[in-house]
Amino acid sequence: MSVLVYISTPNGHISKSAIEAVYYGSQIGEVTALANGNVSKDDLANLGKYGAKNVLLHASETEDPSQLSKMIQKAATSASADTIILSYDLIGKAIAPRVSAGMKAGYVPGATTLPDANGLIKTNVFSGKAKGLVKVNTPKRIIGLTPNSIPLVEGNDVATVTDFSEEIGNSSITIKEIKKQEGDILLTEADLVVSAGRGLKGPENWGMVEDLAKTLGAATACSRPVADIGWRPHHEHVGQTGIAIRPNLYIAAGISGAIQHLAGVNQSKTIVVINTDPEAPFFKAADYGVIGDAFEVLPALNEAIKNF
Ligand code: FAD
Repeated sequence: MSVLVYISTPNGHISKSAIEAVYYGSQIGEVTALANGNVSKDDLANLGKYGAKNVLLHASETEDPSQLSKMIQKAATSASADTIILSYDLIGKAIAPRVSAGMKAGYVPGATTLPDANGLIKTNVFSGKAKGLVKVNTPKRIIGLTPNSIPLVEGNDVATVTDFSEEIGNSSITIKEIKKQEGDILLTEADLVVSAGRGLKGPENWGMVEDLAKTLGAATACSRPVADIGWRPHHEHVGQTGIAIRPNLYIAAGISGAIQHLAGVNQSKTIVVINTDPEAPFFKAADYGVIGDAFEVLPALNEAIKNF
C-alpha cells in the first residue's frame, strides 16, 4: 500500500505532529512525504528515521489551503497513494476536507489509532468526550491524525528527497498579515504546558506563569477570556474555540474549567489544577488538584522544581 503524508513546516521547522504522521503512515504502507516551503533537505532526509522512503519538496511557500490541497492531490497521484495522512491540527483541518472532496475519498478526522484488521480506526469525537470507530469504504482515504496519539520509534534510514514542481494555480486568498507565534516552544507541539485564567487578575501577574514555564521547558497557554480582554495573545487561547492540545502535562492555574475550556485540554495525559475554589469544575477533570492561591502556589512550585 502506498501512503502520502503531508508535512507541515512552520518557520522551516518540521513539526512533531508531522513526524508522528510519517511514522503512523509507515505502519500502514510505503510512505512518500510531501513538504513545501523553505525547509532543509537534510531535515527532510532525516524523516527516513521515522519510516519515510521518499520526500517530495515543493518550492512554493503558500499557506493557502486550496493550493496546498491541489499540491497534495497531485503528489498523491504521482506516488499512486491510496491513503493520505495529515496531522489533525489547524492546518490539516483546513486542507483535509478539500483533498477529500477533490479526490472523492472518505475522510477520517481525529484518528487516534492505526486501522485494525477490518480497517476500523478509532477517533475522538465531541471534543474528545466520546470515541468513534470509522471505516472508509471509498478506494482512497484521508486520515487526520490527532497529535500526540502514538509513540514514536526511531530507526536509522535516510529518505530520498526530490524536488516536486507541479503547478498549483494562483492563490484565491489575500494574506494581509502573518503573526508569528512568540516564544521558543510551540504550544501545539509542547509536551508540557502551563496555563492560566482570569484568576490571575491581570496581565502584570503572568511573570509567575512564564517563570514556571521556563523552569519546566513548557509552553504557556490561557483561557479564552484572558485572550479576549488582551491579557495574552490569541494564539495561546486553548479550548473549543481556540487550540486543542494534548500535552503530557497541563498545569492550569486560576481557570474554572468550563466545558468549553476542557474541550481543548481534556486529552492531556496529566492535568494539574490550582484553584482557590474547591468547587471549581476543573477539579473533576484533574489528576492532581491544589486548592490554593495561584499567587502562592505557582512561585512555590517553581522554586521547588528549581531546587529538585
Ligand atoms: P473564570 O470563569 O472567571 O474563572 C476564574 C477561576 O479562577 C475561578 O475558578 C476562580 O475560583 C479561580 N481563582 C480566582 N482567584 C484565584 C487565585 N488567586 N488562585 C487560584 N485560582 C483563582 N473558554 C476557554 O477557555 N476556551 C474556549 O475555547 C472557550 N470557548 C467558548 C465558546 C463559547 C461558545 C462560549 C459560550 C464560551 C467559551 N469559553 C471558552 C468561555 C468559557 O465558558 C469560560 O467562560 C471561560 O473558560 C472562563 O475562563 P476562566 O476560567 O479563566 O475565568
